[in-house]
Amino acid sequence: MSHDRFSSVLSFLEATAVVREHSAALRFAHTRKTEIVGLSHALGRVLGRPVTADRDQPPFDRSIRDGYACHAADLLSGQPLRVSGQIRAGDAIELPRPKLPTGHAIEIMTGAPVPPGADCVVMFEHVDYDSDTNTICLHPNRLASHPPKPGSNIVPAGSEARKNDIVLYAGTRLLPAHIAAAAACGAATVQIYAPPRVSILASGDELVDLETPPLPHQIRNSNSYSLAAQITTAGGQPQRMPLVRDDPGHMQSAIRMALDADLLLLSGGASMGKYDFAAESLQALGAEFFFTGALIQPGKPVIFGRLPHATGMKYFFALPGNPVSTMVTFSLFVHPLLCALAGDDNRVPRFALARLSTEVRVSPGLTRFLPATLDGGLESDVTPVEWQGSGDLANTAAANCFLVVPPDRESLAAGETVSVLLN
Ligand code: AMP
Ligand code: MG
Repeated sequence: MSHDRFSSVLSFLEATAVVREHSAALRFAHTRKTEIVGLSHALGRVLGRPVTADRDQPPFDRSIRDGYACHAADLLSGQPLRVSGQIRAGDAIELPRPKLPTGHAIEIMTGAPVPPGADCVVMFEHVDYDSDTNTICLHPNRLASHPPKPGSNIVPAGSEARKNDIVLYAGTRLLPAHIAAAAACGAATVQIYAPPRVSILASGDELVDLETPPLPHQIRNSNSYSLAAQITTAGGQPQRMPLVRDDPGHMQSAIRMALDADLLLLSGGASMGKYDFAAESLQALGAEFFFTGALIQPGKPVIFGRLPHATGMKYFFALPGNPVSTMVTFSLFVHPLLCALAGDDNRVPRFALARLSTEVRVSPGLTRFLPATLDGGLESDVTPVEWQGSGDLANTAAANCFLVVPPDRESLAAGETVSVLLN
């Protein structure tokens, strides 16, 4: 399609749907290399091959309480049960064990194998122990409220996973719980996808890099750093490229150089100013545009498309240069596509509901993302931070989420349940 800057400014939901469509296609079509890493280096990486159970989990009928293993029916009969031994976690189960006789109980600890014949474990706290006769009886209160049943406090062998079952699927981004599950399967190493490489091209004649002391009219290039951090957090491998001048020729050659990555991010020059050359440079290189703006604030001049390259089509985003706009548009649009490139099955961005602590007024028409603080706890309050707009990094740094204001709202009332963007 030929690029018309006004032709494809989409609502937030439309733009989200476009990115989701391309992400869904990428999840299946994109070929990814895999590599093997030690489990202790796998946190945050995306699993490229499933992890399977190397044996039944649990490997034996496991007691989940400290107490007595016995027959539920025996205990309910009201007759005292003789305590005839003890089993603790780590006691071997390979030894043949006599079946627990009727009228007997055996002391058992959490994590120990339940002996043959016993069908329940009753907690120490729920029985009366008579040391003279070395017997136990179920406490009368317990009999009335929660009588033991066959299976009480026992996790049967293989009930969590059977040997050879898939415990972790390819496409899982490994969080601490996944590392634990892999360790329980004996996976000392795991096969993970190589992270997608993402080129970052920041443009603007006012920009200087961190090594250069800025003159009064110059601005430090913070976007290359925020984007690199967001890419790393999202499981990608950032490549910060040299600064690009506000010059179409320079921008085109910089884009060509950056296109060997899996994804290209431009920052700055995406708007309609006289010195904004991102769209024109991309168009000159044969870009296909999926949208050239979204009705959001911050981040309206965000461009999404694809460029031809010798190694196949490459996706790009041209993000607005205002630092908070860059970060918000990354979270909303780049992050989901990057997850798809990485083979990560998680769907982002994540939103949550919270209670607004104070009234918020805006002019309607755009979906707004206002930097805000979300406090912890079961019922979280969200409070917008005072800020100077989408260039204000100092105050945005005090926020930990973005309050979402729908495009048809002029105000949100204190106490209202609202959506917040979490990442
Ligand atoms: P632009 O999107 O190029 O019109 O830039 C919008 C605003 O963001 C201007 O105030 C720029 O100085 C600022 N800006 C652009 N690029 C960056 C960057 N890489 N780091 C920090 N600020 C930037
Ligand atoms: Mg600029």
